[in-house]
This record gives sequence, structure tokens and C-alpha cells, in this order.
Amino acid sequence: MRLAAIVAAAGRGNRLGAAVPKALVPVAGTPLVVHAVRAMHEAGVHVILVTAPTDYVDEIQALVPEARVMGGGVLRQDSVALALASLPADVEIVLVHDAARGLAPVSVVASVVGAIRAGADAAIPVLPVTDTVKQVDGDGNVVRTLDRTSLRAVQTPQGFKRSVLQRAHDEATGEEVTDDAAMVEALGLVVATVPGASLAMKVTTAADLAVAESLLAGEVHHVG
Ligand code: C5P
Repeated sequence: MRLAAIVAAAGRGNRLGAAVPKALVPVAGTPLVVHAVRAMHEAGVHVILVTAPTDYVDEIQALVPEARVMGGGVLRQDSVALALASLPADVEIVLVHDAARGLAPVSVVASVVGAIRAGADAAIPVLPVTDTVKQVDGDGNVVRTLDRTSLRAVQTPQGFKRSVLQRAHDEATGEEVTDDAAMVEALGLVVATVPGASLAMKVTTAADLAVAESLLAGEVHHVG
């Protein structure tokens, strides 16, 4: 089954405070988007599309020749929809990945793909939640404490049967969502989970960048 990946990298990454979009920020000397595309390539993904800020398409394309870079949309889901619309006809499985999680290891990509190949409509990498999580009202007062044992923190790449992801985007209400699985859940379909990894952490702030650097250094040290 032909496999494609959409790497969402069209965000500005304002919370990071860098002079360039987050996808271009280096971790261990390599831009996040290059890490992300490399993992997809190493995992055997046949077609890789990257969404970039429209004024950075050429710069990012030069960094990832194995991928096709295109301009993104206003919201993340718009960027994904644009990329989805330009996938080759023979693609049957689609991964949607955030450049912001560029250090996600190949083993996680393989687990997600394995779940889809085994028949799941959608599969997402998750980690257990270690913090106690509470729901609050508009005043910031606690409504309830959620049962931590049933909570999971969600990562990318998220995997989908192409037909399922297409339907999810076609039938989306237009309301902003933070991941593609939410759209599939809205269709009433089952989203499976597979084990995620600390390295698939999302880089949002400068502090996250420092954590990512040290996790990667630990990994390299461990392997070497
Ligand atoms: O904004 P957030 O951190 O949730 O973005 C997650 C990912 O989606 C980032 O890698 C970002 O580059 C990408 N994105 C996109 N198009 C947008 C907004 C965000 O591809 N319009």
C-alpha cells in the first residue's frame, strides 16, 4: 500500500521567539523540518509533502530535496487539506506529522504505519499523562479532576487510511481542531493508539528546544 506523509511546517512558531519559522530552527545543528522529513524517508514513506509559510517555500525546498514543499493555509487543518488535495491518486495510507515534532523516531512512524496496515482506520502515538489534570470553568475554578489512568498525551505522526482522512476533511465543520484524529473521531470512527516516545515531544518554547537538544544528545550518546 502506497504511503504518503504530510509534514505540517507552515506555522510561524511565534511562541519560540526565533527570527525564522519554527521549522527552520536547528536542533543539534539540523532544522526541525529536515529532521522530520529524514525520519519519514528512513521509515520508507514513498511521497513526502511539506507545507511551508508561503514566503519560505523555496528556502525549505532546498533543504529537503526528497520532499515536495508547498505553501500552507491559515490554520493547520487548512495546510493539511491543501496537501491532501495534491497527493498522487495511488496513495492509500497518509501520515500527518508536525515539523514541531521533528525528532519523532522512525520506530514510532513504523508503529503507526503498522497499525494502519493491520486494518485500523486511524492510529496515533500516545504517552501516559504524568501530571494530574483538572478541568476548570471560565473563572479558572476547578470543575473536576480527570482520571489520569484514562488520559493520554497525543503526538504525531498520526496515520490514516487515505479515504478516512479525506472524508474527515470533507465533512469537517470548519471549527478549529488541534489534530487530524479529532476530525476522524467526529465521524464516529475508532482511532487506535500506539506507544509514542519522549523524542516525539513538541517544540513550542525556547525551553522545549533545550530539552529536545538534550534528549537528542542522550540518544546519540546511547547509540554511539
Ligand atoms: O501551531 P501549532 O504548534 O499547533 O502547529 C503544529 C504544526 O502545524 C507546526 O509544525 C506548524 O508548522 C504547522 N502549521 C501549519 N499550518 C498552519 C499552522 C501550523 O502547517 N497554518
